Amino acid sequence: MEIIHVSAECYPVAKAGGLGDVVGALPRYQNQLGHIAKVVMPMYNTKFLYNNQWELVHKGGANLGYWWFEYTVIKEITNVLGFDLYLIDIGGLLDREKVYGYDDDTERFTAFQIAVVDWIAKWNHEPDVIHVHDHHAALIPFMMQNCVGFRNLADIPSVITIHNAQYQGWLGWDKSHYIPEWDQWKWGQLEWNNMINPLASGIKCAWKVTTVSWSYMEELKYMSNGLEALFEYEKGKCSGILNGIDTVVWDPETDKYIDDHYKALDVKRGKTASKEKLCETFELDPEKPLFVFIGRLVGEKAADLLPQVIGDSFYHIGRKMNFLILGSGDPYVESQLEILKAYSAGDYNVFVGYNEALSHLMYAGADFILMPSRVEPCGLNQMYAMRYGTVPIVRKTGGLKDTVIDYGDPDGYGITHLYASVGDITQGIFRGLELYEDKKRLKDVRKTMMKLDFSWDNSAQQYINLYSTLH
Ligand code: ADP
Repeated sequence: MEIIHVSAECYPVAKAGGLGDVVGALPRYQNQLGHIAKVVMPMYNTKFLYNNQWELVHKGGANLGYWWFEYTVIKEITNVLGFDLYLIDIGGLLDREKVYGYDDDTERFTAFQIAVVDWIAKWNHEPDVIHVHDHHAALIPFMMQNCVGFRNLADIPSVITIHNAQYQGWLGWDKSHYIPEWDQWKWGQLEWNNMINPLASGIKCAWKVTTVSWSYMEELKYMSNGLEALFEYEKGKCSGILNGIDTVVWDPETDKYIDDHYKALDVKRGKTASKEKLCETFELDPEKPLFVFIGRLVGEKAADLLPQVIGDSFYHIGRKMNFLILGSGDPYVESQLEILKAYSAGDYNVFVGYNEALSHLMYAGADFILMPSRVEPCGLNQMYAMRYGTVPIVRKTGGLKDTVIDYGDPDGYGITHLYASVGDITQGIFRGLELYEDKKRLKDVRKTMMKLDFSWDNSAQQYINLYSTLH
């Protein structure tokens, strides 16, 4: 089967979060299963672009409304990622340093999608499936079915995977002329709540809809930023497939970002060595248990609660633990976390920014990772953490609910709590301390977690099974 993944992110080319990790791994595992999976994404101005070799595959042009643009498709020639990678270059629009966050993101990603469809429409063969990811690629199923110039793609099955339904890519009807000539009576397939809603359109037009955990799929029917009724209506073609993790990149035995490698048998030694490095860099006490948070500092992740959680833990439990935070996002949360340093030096520190190497060292060196998310479609951090023997303290929601069993339950290994509230999270930290003091139990929990299989093998096959139902 030939599968074309279309995405705004793909690790290590460009990553802002979990989407990048998934699109950087899933195609490789699908290839290992004997299929031909390819990735198409925008050509950003990233290091990966300059450190690899490329060949020109196609040159074309298309309209974004009244603006004519030219695009180029280039392909990485050494297969360094384990799958064919194609980048779409639209000069001045996509070739920037960041993936998102520009005022003209609507124009950038609409033009990207037009270029992708325009290019595929000119192939002299048809791929078996077009698999689009999140709202940045979600107009593609509509365009394949309803644009006059792309009629030859109408019978190719399309699948959309929703990694995060909070962001939907809304645009006003004044921009409807951006979409290449389309059957205007089909406007209902673009519309949701009086806007053009690319994610809603993807859900309506794609042949199958998946999201990245079973529980998140259920939650979307009553909590999906306005799309609840749509998920309920379309539930017949929706399913959940849990993300896997890339066990080559995320492996404490070989991780290129850590010096002190370890496996389940010598987990204590390995973790202690990485913890000492972290504590030295961030002026923390290596004798105390280390609780970390890694991720976007946004409401979805309940990062706004962290300053009070840390303050309350020190006040109610005592200064028996260290906290280290890595993340960026909401400027107010960033500043609150910076200010907290003045009161908690020696037991707390924060690195505001994005740092891939530091994240790996933290998964290795931490004792506990906090994930109190209000919304968590799948969550990768808890799976990485467990592979590194770090106990996750998670809110029971979405993918966290599907992957972490409380250590108080039969066969359990993590710590779970019901609400994203300061009280519940602090209680989780207290239970973490109890576990830390019970050395025998901690050792067993670490070993159990490190043996869990979250690899892509199983999930990659589930996607193949899904595509097979479309032919
Ligand atoms: P989301 O995609 O919602 O941000 P996920 O848990 O699915 O959350 O994926 C988060 C990924 O991004 C993980 O690989 C995590 O290690 C990484 N990450 C998030 N923030 C940072 C950061 N500031 N520095 C390094 N890595 C980060």
